[in-house]
Order: sequence, then structure tokens, then C-alpha cells
Amino acid sequence: MSGMDKEFQRYFDALDRSGGEDRCYLCRRTPSDVKQFFGFDEDGVPIDAGTYGLEDVVLEATDIMSYRGHRPLCAVCQLNFEMLYMAGDEKHLEQVLREVREERDRLWPPAQRHEPDQNEPEMT
Ligand SMILES: [Zn+2]
Repeated sequence: MSGMDKEFQRYFDALDRSGGEDRCYLCRRTPSDVKQFFGFDEDGVPIDAGTYGLEDVVLEATDIMSYRGHRPLCAVCQLNFEMLYMAGDEKHLEQVLREVREERDRLWPPAQRHEPDQNEPEMT
């Protein structure tokens, strides 16, 4: 199998594992969202290339989403985790994950009920 065929096989295997969803397992970004986050259009060309002198920069498919792990993972999440680990922040990361799992009501208290103002235009 050629290198390209292997990449396709990894991609389809990853989609199988994720129930057919081509999104980051953690943040739910699509490959297109990730490209836009980094300032690139759908074809991987910088959106403001002329402004920033990036005419020759092209985002490679391999810089956007990894399909080699248990679930698809985007470059934004990979970089975020690398920053946390580089800062030696594992302890806080574990605490945040525990809070998200076990303390939703404390983290996200119920919203205040909004009473419509007499001067507010009616939504139709
Ligand atoms: Zn992500």
C-alpha cells in the first residue's frame, strides 16, 4: 500500500471509530473550522496572504487534524494540551476535568430569568 493509500486508510478507520464524524473529538471543530482558526481558507491558502506577506505559505492537510489516535484530534487542541504540559499544568488540567465531570451545577449556575422590558421591541 502506498503512503497516500495508508493515509486514506487511517482517515477512514478514524471516521469508523468516531461514528463517521470528521470533527475533533474534544472541541468538535471540523477541518474547515481549524483552517479558518489559523487564518486559512478551505484550500489551505492564507486568508489575508497579501496583508501579512504569506503568499507562499500553504497549510498542509497533516497540520489540521490527526486521524492516527483513538479519536480525531485537531491541531488547536493538540497545541493547547502541549502548552498545558509544557507549563507543567497537569494538576490543574486534572482538576478542571474533574470539575467538568462532577460539578457542572457549580460551574454553570442557572441563568437569571429575563423579564421582558416594556420598552423592548417585541420579537416576531
Ligand atoms: Zn479540537
